Amino acid sequence: MTGEVPKEDGGAVSLEDLRQKMVDFVKERDWEKYHSPRNLLLALVGEVGELSECFQWKGEVPKGLPDWKDEEKQHLGEELSDVLLYLVQLSHYCGIDLGKAALRKVHLNAIKHPVNRYIKSIPEEENKKSDDVDDDDDSKITNQDNNNGNGMTENLQN
Ligand SMILES: [Mg+2]
Repeated sequence: MTGEVPKEDGGAVSLEDLRQKMVDFVKERDWEKYHSPRNLLLALVGEVGELSECFQWKGEVPKGLPDWKDEEKQHLGEELSDVLLYLVQLSHYCGIDLGKAALRKVHLNAIKHPVNRYIKSIPEEENKKSDDVDDDDDSKITNQDNNNGNGMTENLQN
């Protein structure tokens, strides 16, 4: 996860901090009976919808959202948090260590999409070597195929 949210003591907030806070929050309200994996997943999807509404009808927006009002950015932060908190809870009730799972996925993505495949300055011979590592159909995607014009790639993390 990028960016660190300041804690009350000025330190970084970990996924474990959030998980424990939500466990306590739910327990104090006796909401555990409602927090099945299915219910949490549906709540998460609902929050993704609310997050999407923040961007709805705005067209493409520049990084950093320089034209957004403070209230809009605050609302966006709230919706991003709703998504994260439901994701943390869903992972908890499924017995998944989200931090470890995410790190593992980043590692797998790095193997699936080696840097030398996307950087043209690296000789073609190096690209051929990386093709030997991964035989997935996605491994045949080239920089030209998936570059969206902003140097960003799309649909690479599934
Ligand atoms: Mg919300």
